[in-house]
Amino acid sequence: MIDLDVVRSKIVGAMTLLDPVEVPCRDALGLVLATDLVSSEPIPPFANTAMDGYAVRAASTQGADDRAPLRLRVVGELPAGHAPTVPVGDGEAIRIMTGAPMPDGADAIVMVERTERDGDDAVLVHQEATPGDHVRRAGGDLEAGDLVFEAGTLLRPAHLGVLASLDVVRALVYPRARVGVLSTGDELVESGALQPGKIRDANRPMLLALLDRAGVEAVNLGMARDDEAAMTATLEDALERCDAVITSGGVSVGDYDYMSAALERIAASDPDPRAAVDWYQVAIRPAKPLCFAIVRGRPVFGLPGNPVSSLVSFELFARPALLTMMGRRDPYRAEVAARAEHAFVRKPDGKLHLDRVHVHVENGHYAVASVGKQESHTLSATAGADGLVLVPDGDGVDEGDEVRVILLD
Ligand code: AMP
Ligand code: MG
Repeated sequence: MIDLDVVRSKIVGAMTLLDPVEVPCRDALGLVLATDLVSSEPIPPFANTAMDGYAVRAASTQGADDRAPLRLRVVGELPAGHAPTVPVGDGEAIRIMTGAPMPDGADAIVMVERTERDGDDAVLVHQEATPGDHVRRAGGDLEAGDLVFEAGTLLRPAHLGVLASLDVVRALVYPRARVGVLSTGDELVESGALQPGKIRDANRPMLLALLDRAGVEAVNLGMARDDEAAMTATLEDALERCDAVITSGGVSVGDYDYMSAALERIAASDPDPRAAVDWYQVAIRPAKPLCFAIVRGRPVFGLPGNPVSSLVSFELFARPALLTMMGRRDPYRAEVAARAEHAFVRKPDGKLHLDRVHVHVENGHYAVASVGKQESHTLSATAGADGLVLVPDGDGVDEGDEVRVILLD
């Protein structure tokens, strides 16, 4: 058996970046910038007021306070979205709204709360202003020529706001990986009444949804029978149209486990010398068997068939690898310390156990409790899990012990 970290870094380290594409910014959420973005203009583009109030020359307000307000002549009104037409002179003010440009001559804003209108054309100012008061200077957020976002930035909603401010309507990003999902097994049916020995395919809908959640483009490849030739043909076709393929089932040591044989066959006819098929026994429970191949220049993740194992294997290996292809620099889930709300009992077996848990926050600290059934076929209990607790090899941990937990969605 091989350690989780060894297998995982080998797989993630084998990933290559997808070729960048230009997409409309509206479609770029969750994708990674493939180039540095430099500001072409200042933001804000012009000096403007941060407050509703009066644009003044600070010098005209010297000595003003509540007991001795100063009277200024109001020479205009300036809502946001309009260009100033008159300047502000000594002893003058312009009524101004948040976001409106600073008029010539004015160097400060007195907020409206510190003023009192005095007829149609005058205002009483109750506060002395200092130059720059409530003025947002041009370029205060970004100067022209600033490096706005570096290549490798994961685009969040606010990034898209900044791009729009700069009139960047298309962005060069790493695309969503197109990832095919294939279930294997003679026992599988899609839906409907079950003939003896048959079950419904649970892994495919789950894996397609996991890919959706990860921001990956999921491609439904259907099901393949336990037959080496059929699997090979299906995989070869999938490798033509996908950036990566995820299969489930057929990677154990059973007589009908053909996944690695099918991949070996494809690798054997691959002219690329990097083509390789690895079959691992990872020192974890669940999800011990794993087949990982690079064939036709594309990664194939052969996950185990038991649904819980498939899920855990996806989280540990496929998800970080696919996100790496999409340019993510930290593709791993957060791993945090938590308090065990009860003992997690186990026996020494040379494996790291990854029990599915509910994660709560208690007095500002994480706490974890088992979801219940922990077998690799009991998907219904695992469905509600929001973490994988790492129970190291040995006899388990006691109630109240500190444990590490991988946070899921
Ligand atoms: P395998 O990895 O093919 O040996 O399968 C291990 C177990 O997982 C068997 O009990 C299979 O019936 C079950 N299994 C495999 N694929 C699926 C699937 N797509 N949906 C539900 N169960 C599956
Ligand atoms: Mg099978």
